[in-house]
Amino acid sequence: PTNRPRSHLVTLRVPGIHHVTAISGPAQQNMDFYADVLGLRTIKQTVNFDDPGTHHLYYGDRAGTPGTAMTFFPWEHAPRGGSGSGATEATGFSVPAGSLEFWGERLKGAGASPQEVDTRFDEESLRCKDPDGLIFEIVAGPATRETTAGAPVHPDIPTEFAVHAFHGVLLDVVDPDPTARLLTDIMGFEHVGEYGGRLRFRTDEHEVGSIVDLRSAGSGARVYMGRGSVHHVAFRARDDEEQQSWRETITNAGIPVTTVQDRCYFHSIYFREPGGVLFEIATDTPGFGIDESEEELGRKLQLPPWFESQREKLEAQLPRLVLPDERS
Ligand code: ZN
Repeated sequence: PTNRPRSHLVTLRVPGIHHVTAISGPAQQNMDFYADVLGLRTIKQTVNFDDPGTHHLYYGDRAGTPGTAMTFFPWEHAPRGGSGSGATEATGFSVPAGSLEFWGERLKGAGASPQEVDTRFDEESLRCKDPDGLIFEIVAGPATRETTAGAPVHPDIPTEFAVHAFHGVLLDVVDPDPTARLLTDIMGFEHVGEYGGRLRFRTDEHEVGSIVDLRSAGSGARVYMGRGSVHHVAFRARDDEEQQSWRETITNAGIPVTTVQDRCYFHSIYFREPGGVLFEIATDTPGFGIDESEEELGRKLQLPPWFESQREKLEAQLPRLVLPDERS
């Protein structure tokens, strides 16, 4: 149809967000908040492949399905991050309609200060900060989808209120136009609305984590990245072949992109979008089940084959973490 002027340019479309990676303070504090307060499942305890003396922690649904994985580099001594242009200002988690009251109480009980936000795009939400100051939103709306693996299970969180997946991210950029063009003309998103200076873009509505909101950062001062900052946002490629097409498409758009990096659980390419936010495209395959069974996910330190010979040294260096259900 000719009434969709931009879609003809798009041959590929990202299905949605794959994971969001942020910088946190102490690893145990981070785990207590995401695995206990928010009730996500710890999917993987591994190391930062570029800095193996520190953890890389993954939280998500029951299987760490792409679109549910919130991940952290705990850099205990990193200074607190700030806001500014090129920042992922907020990360949204999707919960079923009717669960905000539960979340408001639970977050208050955990010492966080959730704020109610005006209804926007027919969705109600709470805005809150994690212990490191990372801003997240709990979004309840008609579009909530559960993954095939199912929502994470926590003894104090009724399954009908559990966090299902990412809702989306909010990016702050000086000029939203070039980022908007990347999203619509190249990555397959559609501009679906605007509320209070927040431009909404959505990719496949049948997938989880399909929303990117853009907002003008105003002053233009560049974000200072530190504890409580999102480091990058990863979008999905279904397999290596699709990722290769993305690599060519993005290169052809004049944006420098890295070679493919082996992240063990997925393969990654990285590029900086025009507004300054670091984007990644990560494959759905091989997934978190590559080195431990679905039942055992996240309970023990897993290392990629190339660090296995250093296990003893790394285990001595890393803090020993206690999962919520390991506490007496
Ligand atoms: Zn990543």
